[in-house]
Amino acid sequence: MTELLYQSNSYLKQFDAKIIKVDEEQRAVILDRTAFYPGGGGQPADTGTLKIIEVTIQINKARKVGEDVLHHVGNADLLPPPGTLVTGFIDWENRYKLMRTHTALHILCGVVFRDFHAQVTGGDMSPLQGRMDFEFETMQKELVQTIEATANEEVKKNLPVRTAILPRQAAFQIPDLIRTKINLLPETIDRVRVVEIVGLDLQADGGTHVKETSEVGRIKVVDYKSKGKINKRIYIEIEN
Ligand SMILES: [Zn+2]
Repeated sequence: MTELLYQSNSYLKQFDAKIIKVDEEQRAVILDRTAFYPGGGGQPADTGTLKIIEVTIQINKARKVGEDVLHHVGNADLLPPPGTLVTGFIDWENRYKLMRTHTALHILCGVVFRDFHAQVTGGDMSPLQGRMDFEFETMQKELVQTIEATANEEVKKNLPVRTAILPRQAAFQIPDLIRTKINLLPETIDRVRVVEIVGLDLQADGGTHVKETSEVGRIKVVDYKSKGKINKRIYIEIEN
Protein backbone atom coordinates (compact mmCIF):
# COMPACT_ATOMS: atom_id res chain seq x y z
CA MET A 1 0.00 0.00 0.00
CA THR A 2 1.33 3.42 -0.98
CA GLU A 3 0.59 6.51 1.11
CA LEU A 4 -0.58 9.25 -1.25
CA LEU A 5 1.33 12.34 -0.14
CA TYR A 6 0.01 14.51 -2.99
CA GLN A 7 -3.53 14.21 -1.62
CA SER A 8 -2.78 16.37 1.40
CA ASN A 9 0.10 18.44 -0.04
CA SER A 10 -0.06 19.08 -3.77
CA TYR A 11 3.03 21.34 -3.54
CA LEU A 12 5.36 18.53 -2.47
CA LYS A 13 8.09 18.33 -5.13
CA GLN A 14 10.58 16.08 -3.32
CA PHE A 15 10.08 13.27 -0.81
CA ASP A 16 11.89 10.39 0.88
CA ALA A 17 10.46 6.90 0.59
CA LYS A 18 11.30 3.20 0.66
CA ILE A 19 10.82 0.64 -2.10
CA ILE A 20 8.41 -1.97 -0.72
CA LYS A 21 7.84 -4.09 -3.85
CA VAL A 22 9.31 -4.56 -7.29
CA ASP A 23 7.33 -5.59 -10.34
CA GLU A 24 9.90 -6.99 -12.81
CA GLU A 25 7.34 -7.65 -15.51
CA GLN A 26 5.98 -4.10 -15.46
CA ARG A 27 9.47 -2.61 -14.90
CA ALA A 28 8.10 -0.72 -11.92
CA VAL A 29 8.83 -0.09 -8.26
CA ILE A 30 6.23 0.42 -5.53
CA LEU A 31 7.04 2.88 -2.75
CA ASP A 32 5.65 3.11 0.80
CA ARG A 33 4.75 6.77 0.08
CA THR A 34 4.73 8.99 -2.98
CA ALA A 35 4.19 12.52 -4.26
CA PHE A 36 3.81 11.21 -7.84
CA TYR A 37 0.25 11.71 -9.07
CA PRO A 38 -0.75 8.41 -10.70
CA GLY A 39 -3.23 9.91 -13.16
CA GLY A 40 -7.01 10.01 -13.01
CA GLY A 41 -9.96 12.37 -13.28
CA GLY A 42 -8.59 13.72 -16.56
CA GLN A 43 -5.26 14.72 -15.00
CA PRO A 44 -2.24 12.94 -16.55
CA ALA A 45 0.23 11.05 -14.37
CA ASP A 46 3.44 12.65 -13.12
CA THR A 47 6.90 11.94 -14.44
CA GLY A 48 10.15 12.54 -12.56
CA THR A 49 13.14 10.76 -11.02
CA LEU A 50 14.12 8.61 -8.08
CA LYS A 51 17.57 9.16 -6.64
CA ILE A 52 19.43 6.38 -4.83
CA ILE A 53 22.68 7.80 -3.43
CA GLU A 54 24.37 8.92 -6.69
CA VAL A 55 22.19 6.99 -9.11
CA THR A 56 19.23 8.68 -10.77
CA ILE A 57 16.40 6.55 -12.15
CA GLN A 58 13.94 8.03 -14.61
CA ILE A 59 10.25 7.55 -13.81
CA ASN A 60 8.25 7.65 -17.03
CA LYS A 61 4.87 7.33 -15.44
CA ALA A 62 3.14 6.65 -12.14
CA ARG A 63 0.05 4.45 -12.13
CA LYS A 64 -2.32 3.34 -9.39
CA VAL A 65 -3.13 -0.35 -9.18
CA GLY A 66 -5.35 -1.18 -6.22
CA GLU A 67 -3.75 0.40 -3.17
CA ASP A 68 -0.28 0.60 -4.74
CA VAL A 69 1.29 3.28 -6.90
CA LEU A 70 3.56 1.75 -9.55
CA HIS A 71 6.48 3.94 -10.64
CA HIS A 72 7.44 2.83 -14.14
CA VAL A 73 11.21 2.93 -14.53
CA GLY A 74 12.73 4.25 -17.75
CA ASN A 75 16.47 3.84 -17.84
CA ALA A 76 17.66 1.29 -15.27
CA ASP A 77 18.86 -2.17 -16.31
CA LEU A 78 18.42 -3.52 -12.82
CA LEU A 79 15.54 -2.54 -10.60
CA PRO A 80 16.60 -1.62 -7.06
CA PRO A 81 15.43 -4.24 -4.55
CA PRO A 82 12.77 -3.83 -1.84
CA GLY A 83 14.12 -2.01 1.20
CA THR A 84 16.08 0.53 -0.90
CA LEU A 85 15.69 4.10 0.30
CA VAL A 86 15.01 6.67 -2.41
CA THR A 87 14.44 10.38 -2.81
CA GLY A 88 11.73 11.14 -5.33
CA PHE A 89 11.57 14.30 -7.45
CA ILE A 90 8.53 15.03 -9.54
CA ASP A 91 8.76 17.00 -12.79
CA TRP A 92 7.46 20.11 -11.09
CA GLU A 93 7.17 22.46 -14.07
CA ASN A 94 4.84 20.05 -15.82
CA ARG A 95 2.88 19.20 -12.66
CA TYR A 96 2.34 22.83 -11.63
CA LYS A 97 0.92 23.63 -15.08
CA LEU A 98 -1.44 20.68 -14.65
CA MET A 99 -2.48 21.95 -11.19
CA ARG A 100 -3.31 25.36 -12.66
CA THR A 101 -5.18 23.72 -15.55
CA HIS A 102 -7.11 21.35 -13.27
CA THR A 103 -8.24 24.17 -10.98
CA ALA A 104 -9.19 26.24 -14.07
CA LEU A 105 -11.45 23.42 -15.23
CA HIS A 106 -13.16 23.34 -11.82
CA ILE A 107 -13.67 27.11 -12.04
CA LEU A 108 -15.27 26.55 -15.46
CA CYS A 109 -17.51 23.79 -14.00
CA GLY A 110 -18.50 26.02 -11.10
CA VAL A 111 -19.36 29.00 -13.31
CA VAL A 112 -21.28 26.96 -15.88
CA PHE A 113 -23.27 25.15 -13.18
CA ARG A 114 -24.03 28.29 -11.13
CA ASP A 115 -24.95 30.54 -14.07
CA PHE A 116 -26.41 28.04 -16.57
CA HIS A 117 -27.28 24.96 -14.44
CA ALA A 118 -25.37 22.75 -16.85
CA GLN A 119 -23.87 19.56 -15.47
CA VAL A 120 -20.41 18.34 -16.33
CA THR A 121 -20.11 14.87 -17.86
CA GLY A 122 -16.38 14.56 -18.46
CA GLY A 123 -13.10 16.30 -19.10
CA ASP A 124 -9.50 15.98 -20.10
CA MET A 125 -6.36 18.08 -19.84
CA SER A 126 -2.73 18.54 -20.81
CA PRO A 127 -0.44 21.25 -19.36
CA LEU A 128 -2.20 24.64 -19.85
CA GLN A 129 -4.95 23.17 -22.06
CA GLY A 130 -8.18 21.45 -21.19
CA ARG A 131 -11.67 20.57 -22.25
CA MET A 132 -14.89 19.87 -20.41
CA ASP A 133 -18.09 18.23 -21.59
CA PHE A 134 -21.42 19.54 -20.33
CA GLU A 135 -25.09 18.77 -20.71
CA PHE A 136 -25.59 22.33 -21.90
CA GLU A 137 -28.33 22.61 -24.50
CA THR A 138 -28.34 26.44 -24.52
CA MET A 139 -24.58 26.78 -25.13
CA GLN A 140 -23.93 29.02 -28.13
CA LYS A 141 -21.12 31.15 -29.54
CA GLU A 142 -22.33 34.33 -27.81
CA LEU A 143 -21.82 32.73 -24.41
CA VAL A 144 -18.11 32.07 -24.94
CA GLN A 145 -17.08 35.60 -23.92
CA THR A 146 -19.49 35.70 -20.98
CA ILE A 147 -18.20 32.41 -19.59
CA GLU A 148 -14.59 33.47 -20.11
CA ALA A 149 -15.11 36.83 -18.37
CA THR A 150 -16.95 35.26 -15.43
CA ALA A 151 -14.30 32.56 -15.00
CA ASN A 152 -11.58 35.23 -14.90
CA GLU A 153 -13.53 37.19 -12.28
CA GLU A 154 -13.40 34.08 -10.09
CA VAL A 155 -9.63 33.88 -10.71
CA LYS A 156 -9.23 37.52 -9.63
CA LYS A 157 -11.28 36.97 -6.46
CA ASN A 158 -8.45 34.70 -5.31
CA LEU A 159 -10.81 32.13 -3.80
CA PRO A 160 -9.18 29.54 -1.54
CA VAL A 161 -9.09 25.95 -2.80
CA ARG A 162 -9.45 23.29 -0.09
CA THR A 163 -9.34 19.53 -0.04
CA ALA A 164 -10.71 17.07 2.51
CA ILE A 165 -11.15 13.33 2.81
CA LEU A 166 -14.62 12.45 4.09
CA PRO A 167 -16.32 9.21 5.07
CA ARG A 168 -18.59 8.12 2.21
CA GLN A 169 -21.78 8.76 4.20
CA ALA A 170 -20.76 12.33 5.05
CA ALA A 171 -19.81 13.03 1.44
CA PHE A 172 -23.18 11.81 0.23
CA GLN A 173 -24.92 14.33 2.47
CA ILE A 174 -23.41 17.26 0.55
CA PRO A 175 -26.09 18.14 -2.04
CA ASP A 176 -23.58 19.78 -4.40
CA LEU A 177 -21.67 16.56 -4.83
CA ILE A 178 -24.60 14.81 -6.45
CA ARG A 179 -24.12 16.77 -9.64
CA THR A 180 -20.62 15.41 -10.14
CA LYS A 181 -22.13 11.95 -10.25
CA ILE A 182 -20.58 10.85 -6.96
CA ASN A 183 -23.16 8.04 -6.94
CA LEU A 184 -21.09 6.36 -9.64
CA LEU A 185 -18.34 5.72 -7.09
CA PRO A 186 -17.91 1.99 -6.43
CA GLU A 187 -19.47 0.90 -3.13
CA THR A 188 -16.14 -0.44 -1.94
CA ILE A 189 -14.81 3.13 -1.65
CA ASP A 190 -15.56 4.21 1.91
CA ARG A 191 -13.70 7.52 1.91
CA VAL A 192 -14.21 10.28 -0.61
CA ARG A 193 -11.76 13.08 -1.30
CA VAL A 194 -13.45 16.38 -2.07
CA VAL A 195 -12.04 19.54 -3.62
CA GLU A 196 -13.76 22.83 -2.86
CA ILE A 197 -13.23 26.21 -4.50
CA VAL A 198 -14.76 28.10 -1.63
CA GLY A 199 -18.00 29.74 -2.65
CA LEU A 200 -17.93 28.40 -6.21
CA ASP A 201 -17.44 24.66 -6.69
CA LEU A 202 -17.36 21.43 -4.72
CA GLN A 203 -16.53 18.08 -6.29
CA ALA A 204 -15.41 14.58 -5.45
CA ASP A 205 -11.95 14.62 -6.98
CA GLY A 206 -8.58 12.92 -6.55
CA GLY A 207 -6.46 15.47 -8.42
CA THR A 208 -3.89 18.07 -7.44
CA HIS A 209 -4.91 21.73 -7.33
CA VAL A 210 -3.41 25.14 -6.64
CA LYS A 211 -4.27 26.65 -3.25
CA GLU A 212 -5.79 29.94 -4.48
CA THR A 213 -7.57 30.69 -7.75
CA SER A 214 -5.24 33.59 -8.63
CA GLU A 215 -2.46 31.05 -9.21
CA VAL A 216 -4.35 29.76 -12.25
CA GLY A 217 -3.66 32.89 -14.31
CA ARG A 218 -5.75 34.08 -17.22
CA ILE A 219 -8.24 31.56 -18.65
CA LYS A 220 -9.15 31.72 -22.34
CA VAL A 221 -12.18 29.90 -23.71
CA VAL A 222 -10.75 29.05 -27.11
CA ASP A 223 -13.48 26.95 -28.71
CA TYR A 224 -16.60 24.93 -28.19
CA LYS A 225 -18.19 22.08 -30.11
CA SER A 226 -21.59 20.47 -30.19
CA LYS A 227 -21.44 16.77 -29.49
CA GLY A 228 -25.15 16.37 -30.22
CA LYS A 229 -28.12 18.55 -29.30
CA ILE A 230 -27.47 18.59 -25.56
CA ASN A 231 -23.81 17.72 -25.13
CA LYS A 232 -21.32 20.55 -25.60
CA ARG A 233 -17.54 20.49 -25.27
CA ILE A 234 -15.77 23.66 -24.10
CA TYR A 235 -12.02 24.10 -24.71
CA ILE A 236 -9.82 26.34 -22.56
CA GLU A 237 -6.21 27.49 -22.51
CA ILE A 238 -4.29 29.05 -19.65
CA GLU A 239 -1.86 31.86 -20.31
CA ASN A 240 1.65 30.83 -19.36
ZN1 LIG B 1 -11.14 17.51 -11.21
